[in-house]
Amino acid sequence: MSTIPDHLVLHGIGVSAGTSSGPAVLVVPAPGADANEPGSTDAAADGQRVRDAMKAVSDALLTKAEHAPETSKPILETTAQLARDKGLAKSVDKELKKGVGITKSVHNAVEEYAAMLTQLGGYMAERVTDLYDIRDRTICELRGLPAPGVPDLTVPSVLVAHDLAPAETATLSKDLVLGIVTSAGGPTSHTAILAAQLAIPAVVQTQGSEAITPGTTVALDGGVGEVIISPTDEEVELLVERSRRRVAALAGSSGEGATKDGHKIKLLANIGTADDARKAATYDLEGSGLFRTEFLFLERDQAPTLAEQTKTYTEVLEAFGERRVVVRTLDAGADKPLAFADLGPEENPALGRRGLRLSMVREDLLDTQLQALAAAYEATGKKSDLRVMAPMVATMDEAKWFADKVRPLGLPKVGIMVEIPSAAIQADKLLSIVDFVSIGTNDLSQYTLAADRMQGALAPLLSPWQPALLTMVRSTCIGGHATGKPVGVCGEAGGDPLLALVLVGLGVSSLSMAPSKVATVRAALRLHDYSTCQQMANYAVDAPSAKDAKAAVEALMAPALHDLL
Ligand code: PEP
Ligand code: MG
Repeated sequence: MSTIPDHLVLHGIGVSAGTSSGPAVLVVPAPGADANEPGSTDAAADGQRVRDAMKAVSDALLTKAEHAPETSKPILETTAQLARDKGLAKSVDKELKKGVGITKSVHNAVEEYAAMLTQLGGYMAERVTDLYDIRDRTICELRGLPAPGVPDLTVPSVLVAHDLAPAETATLSKDLVLGIVTSAGGPTSHTAILAAQLAIPAVVQTQGSEAITPGTTVALDGGVGEVIISPTDEEVELLVERSRRRVAALAGSSGEGATKDGHKIKLLANIGTADDARKAATYDLEGSGLFRTEFLFLERDQAPTLAEQTKTYTEVLEAFGERRVVVRTLDAGADKPLAFADLGPEENPALGRRGLRLSMVREDLLDTQLQALAAAYEATGKKSDLRVMAPMVATMDEAKWFADKVRPLGLPKVGIMVEIPSAAIQADKLLSIVDFVSIGTNDLSQYTLAADRMQGALAPLLSPWQPALLTMVRSTCIGGHATGKPVGVCGEAGGDPLLALVLVGLGVSSLSMAPSKVATVRAALRLHDYSTCQQMANYAVDAPSAKDAKAAVEALMAPALHDLL
């Protein structure tokens, strides 16, 4: 093997499978405030200049949105809206009045705002990335510099960034972006979700990727999370070969999900909008196992009307025809606050009045939503396999309260999500009330391990391989078995082909994930007997650590699965 200067193999978290290699294009870092600028002597005039700059940034983002794919439009529009935030402009005024320079005032005001959002945690903390994007664009506008971020690509390239702002990921083209490598981010970041949607290989949390220089050839494997700087010809060939094998292994992946010996598993898509539904419906899958309806409610001043919701739900049901659609009612609060349903500040929002707890206070919101679902079901000829479930259910009383609301409306099936340990350990009792449960492994991890799911530093605790989390899944499945009712998984864990085997072995009967992950999971299931999945599950649950759980399962997997990872 020839040695190449600066040849280096880096490791990160693979978030969108596939391999590629190409020249690195660095996402231009923001220049920051002008260190040499004079202090403000005319706060009113400078305040107006900042407002003009923010408006120009907002307009540019809206123009970008017009040409962006449907799924990306809302992200760009949301960021554009943030650039018109009056509160932010007023905070800048305060700085200017103190005599702070114009770009430094923007910087300081955003810092203050960001600190507030970070403290709120969860979804609000995620908005901080959007806010910094606005800051950087506004400062560039004021300094007469080109906008920071992804440059216009002329040749297919690998993007290397600290992290990508939503506005940047939203407009990426699969033809020109061969891969994405970031040093920050996480498995649930915008970069990860959008890369998987676009099927662009991506690795996040890549240790050492700051060392990559523009134009250097970078090869990556978004399945195993490997990034090679200046790869040797042999390494590129190996990756290409891995890609070929992957495509070949997936070529036969079609039809119903089932293990090698025919134990059936429904493979379903996670969706958030009617547009997602139409896209997902074109995939070879059996419906949607999680429709996150809160996307209809977020970033609005008023709740969507009955007519508006009926229209969206009708479109979603129409997209899937007779297939299954599991609709989750509004999951707001904590990381997804709603301006029109604010119940006041909370010390610990993740443990506060969120999910169904919010619906129990704001019954009107839930009632309208359920009426809209009933109307959509009626309008589509009651032909879909429609199921309605509540988020964040902790007790039997809550499950009963929800079921009593849903059933009189003629909605065919009612269920709940298992996201809280109390629900997992009394799944049998809850299933005596409802028709099905779906495990949200993202939140179930967070609450089982007491680790904030947005905290990158706690990633090892949040690993879905944690035996404690798998024990919770097993407890839920025991409840399902005892009552003869189905247990699904709709958290991110369901889209990992190796973990999917474990979940099936534990007893789940459906897995819901990003549509692009279905083919791989289906192929993984086809390679293993149900009894092997059960053995894997036993080993993983009994393992002393997440690392050991994964290693024990890898030791049992069919060698051909390597081609799919
Ligand atoms: C989960 O918690 O696993 C889940 C599917 O819900 P969300 O990610 O929307 O909280
Ligand atoms: Mg959840």
